[in-house]
Amino acid sequence: MRVPRPLHHLTHHSDEELDDSLELRSVFLRPGEASELPKYKMPAGPSLPETAYQIVHDEAMLDGNARLNLATFVSTWMDDEAKKLYVEAADKNMIDKDEYPATAAIEDRTWRMIADLWNVPDPQDTIGTSTIGSSEACMLGGLALKRHWQAKRKAEGKSIEKPNLVLSTAVQVCWEKFCNYFEVEPRWVPISEEHLVLDGYELEKYVDENTIGVVAIMGQTYTGMYEPVKEIAAKLDQIQADTGLDVKIHVDGASGAMVAPFCQPDLEWDFRVERVVSINTSGHKYGLVYPGVGWVVWRNTERLPESMIFHCSYLGGDMPTLALNFSRPGAQVLLQYYQFLRLGREGYRQVQQESLDVAQFLSSEIGKLDGFELISRGDTIPVFAWRLTPGHTKNWDLNDLSDRLRMKGWLVPAYPMADDMADLTVQRIVVRSGLSLDLAKKLLRDLKGEVEFLDSLDAPMPHAAEPTQQFAH
Ligand SMILES: *Cc1c(COP(=O)(O)O)cnc(C)c1O
Repeated sequence: MRVPRPLHHLTHHSDEELDDSLELRSVFLRPGEASELPKYKMPAGPSLPETAYQIVHDEAMLDGNARLNLATFVSTWMDDEAKKLYVEAADKNMIDKDEYPATAAIEDRTWRMIADLWNVPDPQDTIGTSTIGSSEACMLGGLALKRHWQAKRKAEGKSIEKPNLVLSTAVQVCWEKFCNYFEVEPRWVPISEEHLVLDGYELEKYVDENTIGVVAIMGQTYTGMYEPVKEIAAKLDQIQADTGLDVKIHVDGASGAMVAPFCQPDLEWDFRVERVVSINTSGHKYGLVYPGVGWVVWRNTERLPESMIFHCSYLGGDMPTLALNFSRPGAQVLLQYYQFLRLGREGYRQVQQESLDVAQFLSSEIGKLDGFELISRGDTIPVFAWRLTPGHTKNWDLNDLSDRLRMKGWLVPAYPMADDMADLTVQRIVVRSGLSLDLAKKLLRDLKGEVEFLDSLDAPMPHAAEPTQQFAH
């Protein structure tokens, strides 16, 4: 007897003879698996959930193995309880504070914990928020600087036509976006062999009455190096004494702001430095949460202009929100709170220290190899970079080594340094929780083997095409 089929038993293959045993067929023999689905048009009809799952699953399988990806800063491992929470909370929308007041309360607690980690002077007079990542957090930090500058200039009856932001050419791309999208002139401070990071050198040449602020990076993406926030602040003190200009600092601590508080507690880079008015971090980098969460905190409420806050009604009360996004996942915020409870300060210290130890083990071994020179050692954030010793070989470069390692499954990118040093190619390793010493030793063995192979060539490596552009960011 034929019974009407529920919708999900239909397939998009209208010409396909459906028989009652369809759902008993092996998943790989079903239409959709055995035959091809259109790639750039929505299929006309539905597929079985198992079939659709298998297709997406199989295609995603061709992505790299995240654990062997030493290019990304973003978390690729969380424990089982975190995964369980993630699945339970997958439907929560962060913006829906009415429906999810508990998640909203946890968000509030979490950024306050972060403010405390960064030594905010007055816990009663500070403000912060979660974001989708550091990029959004940087946009908000930059915007607050701009608005603050505008308000001050307006009050003085001065022009607000030409705001500028002073930053190193080695900033992450989100700052270029900020300047582009929010119409602020970037004042690029070049990097050089002597000044690989923004350190205050010649800062007076870049700062003027239209400067909305200076960006200091804690954990340059190219090398992992910290920009010395205290030295930059001292230079700005000098500039203020000489010119009267009072220029503040936003710290882009996308990675370092979740490492320094635990592993370099004596380094003063945060709100202990008076000129620092706001700080961002990526919860999904060394905050140890899966992708989709960042944080930004302001020194005090005065530094976040009221004009940036939207007041939504919340359980009959007032819920201030500030964000570029409206809807976004709430689960990652819960996961951040979970990690804070799970690990505590001591747990974070141990996890980050383990990564620092592995990074320094790798950098010291790689630094010993003939032909390599370290640019950084992985003693700030667990990230380091090296270059080929000039004159070592004409037969291969770091792009070739990167390609060779890729054949073994490792993603170890080579890329040109920032603008002013773009003719220098470097190679970088980002150590994250999950790269054990054991795995690191396997990587080292593969790397040594590939260097040996490349060094044994008696002719240049053929370059079929331009080297693939890899992300330094
Ligand atoms: C990763 C990174 C960013 C961007 O952060 P997302 O969380 O990926 O948006 C900004 N600045 C620095 C220094 C970074 O390392």
